[in-house]
Amino acid sequence: AKKPAPNSIITPNFKFEDMGIGGLDQEFGAIFRRAFASRVFPPGLVEKLGIQHVKGILLFGPPGTGKTLMARQIGKMLNAREPKIVNGPEILNKFVGQSEENIRKLFADAEKEYKEKGDESGLHIIIFDELDAICKQRGSSQGGTGVGDSVVNQLLSKMDGVDQLNNILLIGMTNRLDMIDEALLRPGRLEVHMEISLPDENGRLQILNIHTAKMRNNGVMDADVDLVELAALTKNFSGAEIGGLVKSATSFAFNRHVKVGTMAGISDDVENMKINRNDFMNALE
Ligand code: ATP
Repeated sequence: AKKPAPNSIITPNFKFEDMGIGGLDQEFGAIFRRAFASRVFPPGLVEKLGIQHVKGILLFGPPGTGKTLMARQIGKMLNAREPKIVNGPEILNKFVGQSEENIRKLFADAEKEYKEKGDESGLHIIIFDELDAICKQRGSSQGGTGVGDSVVNQLLSKMDGVDQLNNILLIGMTNRLDMIDEALLRPGRLEVHMEISLPDENGRLQILNIHTAKMRNNGVMDADVDLVELAALTKNFSGAEIGGLVKSATSFAFNRHVKVGTMAGISDDVENMKINRNDFMNALE
């Protein structure tokens, strides 16, 4: 039997619920339909339709809402190689003068593999975190060095080259959509845009469930903790802040078991430590 192109393989038994992303199932579904559906079409259908795979998406929204998490999980779902993650400020600051070379290098592995294997190549994902740092709209750099401009130009020309490669997916991320050079957002570049906003109450409940799953399963969380109550009390919290809350509650629980000022206070009792409602209330405060 003819082997389907790796690009069209979705990880078997893939389930959104297993991804550890709370409250973003709608967004995930929408991105999937708009950006990845063609990658799971039967081989040949894409050619018959005469369309191109979407090569780039942009996730935007407040910090800590799960954009990076989402980008990584998309990679897992699509059976992609471990994504390359580049950070905007790092490209600009750490390697001034070499930024264009760095951009070229980012694409090199995928280009090489595509040359060798064509559509049999694995999928390569490049994640641009804090994309706004690279892409202060061209010509608007306040007394800048112009480094940003040439990096954007290099990125644009690389993205246009990606058109010829079926094995690349670019994922840009930003908290500042307004700062992104429009040229990057055009069809054929980062063309599918998805807002990842702060979770609503139900989303927060899902995130709380995810971040307390281990302690609940292992009996380390007291029965008096009510996650529904906590979801209601954490209005405007991001997913990252909810993760922080759980950590902080843990340290309050730990403190109840340790004498202040001495590590000798750690006793067997720590093994019986349970995180209770009061620890969460202290953490919230
Ligand atoms: P930034 O814009 O600051 O880069 P981000 O949107 O990329 O933020 P992440 O790095 O994905 O945010 O989130 C940081 C951490 O917060 C995650 O590793 C995870 O522990 C937690 N988190 C954030 N959002 C969610 C979510 N929706 N579900 C579960 N955990 C989440």
